[in-house]
Amino acid sequence: MKIQIIGAGLAGLSAACALTEAGHQIMLSEAAPQAGGRARSYFDKQLGCRIDNGNHLLLSGNKDALRYLRRIGAEHTLTGPDEANFPFHDLKTNRGWTLRLNHGRIPWWIAAPSRRVPGTRLADYLALKRLLQARPGDLVEPLVGHGPLYERLLEPLAIAALNTMPDIAAAQPLGAVLAETVERGGFAALPRWARLGLSESFVDPALAWLQQRGAELRFGERVTHLPPNQPTILAVPPWVAKELMPELDVPDAFESICNLHFKTPRGPAEATFHGVIGGLTEWIFLRETVISVTISAANRHAHLGQEAIAAQVWQEVCQVLGQTLKLPPYRVLWEKRATFACTPAQLAKRPGPRSPRPLVALAGDWTDTGLPATIEGAIRSGEAAAKALLSQI
Ligand SMILES: Cc1cc2nc3c(=O)[nH]c(=O)nc-3n(C[C@H](O)[C@H](O)[C@H](O)COP(=O)(O)OP(=O)(O)OC[C@H]3O[C@@H](n4cnc5c(N)ncnc54)[C@H](O)[C@@H]3O)c2cc1C
Repeated sequence: MKIQIIGAGLAGLSAACALTEAGHQIMLSEAAPQAGGRARSYFDKQLGCRIDNGNHLLLSGNKDALRYLRRIGAEHTLTGPDEANFPFHDLKTNRGWTLRLNHGRIPWWIAAPSRRVPGTRLADYLALKRLLQARPGDLVEPLVGHGPLYERLLEPLAIAALNTMPDIAAAQPLGAVLAETVERGGFAALPRWARLGLSESFVDPALAWLQQRGAELRFGERVTHLPPNQPTILAVPPWVAKELMPELDVPDAFESICNLHFKTPRGPAEATFHGVIGGLTEWIFLRETVISVTISAANRHAHLGQEAIAAQVWQEVCQVLGQTLKLPPYRVLWEKRATFACTPAQLAKRPGPRSPRPLVALAGDWTDTGLPATIEGAIRSGEAAAKALLSQI
């Protein structure tokens, strides 16, 4: 019997690939006309070029995401520097610095003032240990405390990784990210992103790989009920999972992410990025023809109009680049339910891969992976759901 997978985001694609590799026949049903869900590329008519729905940054320690790419033959489609260097710019002081982690497991970069965050002392980095040892219920900001390390590194890191403001965000998932990356050494914290686009890396090669192996792929097919007695992986967002399976408890509070894409021919040939503090802009991704900006945990900016946000962000981009440039054509993409809000109360609602119904497994970045809602979490959840289902058939 075919295994049905509902939802062709990265969790559904990961489950589909795992099951296909294990020798099973699968049918993948996706409501949208295309796969990729919240991590996809498209041709933007307004800008006249292809863009990603949002900038996505991975780290070289995202081992499940890298294994997935290897499986579908797309590992070479990621790019990024050979050193774990993170350039930052403070808009208030107009000062820049680069955090430079060393490759090995012993973090001697913390002892080197030229490599660590300016204005910090060695002892401040004990905050990283507190994050690694966080318990359920611990919140990021109260756990790590304030100071230059918080303002210049931990706050922007927490907002980016958890998509939730650190005063209400759970510390444990941030600790889990650090344990799989920074704690293992700079070699596991190398920044990585899709060279051409998210779909070209994570989606199109997976669809081709599945098709070559006889998978049935259906697009524009919104599933409205769970077929009885058919092995199924439900890889849809939490509110859809709840509609299809009302007895499920799922995360039900969300945070948005705002991405701005500016069409400009002035970027560098090789893509780079900057962390930014002291303004609206949080991360700038410079590509050859598009400069993109990410603002996470963006519910707090919901009152700002698109024009106002674009004007301010462009001014900030110019300040970081040290140039005065006219506002180019732009696109503001506001993903309202980008991820669940990573608070202790929401974490408690995350189900594991086994659902209350036999022969139905759950996948998605909102399931209990221990990680925040990220590509690594989504891909890992797909693998876990495939395992949970196979243990029942
Ligand atoms: C703007 C933005 C920026 C991000 N930045 C990063 C980042 O820098 N790094 C990172 O690691 N992660 C990032 N993320 C998170 C990452 O994109 C997600 O964690 C991941 O894509 C979630 O995949 P998923 O498969 O769990 O869910 P989804 O992508 O939501 O997939 C669910 C799929 O189910 C489909 N579906 C829904 N209802 C039905 C139905 N009834 N029948 C059939 N199909 C249905 C949907 O159309 C969708 O394709 C970002 C997310 C956003 C939105």
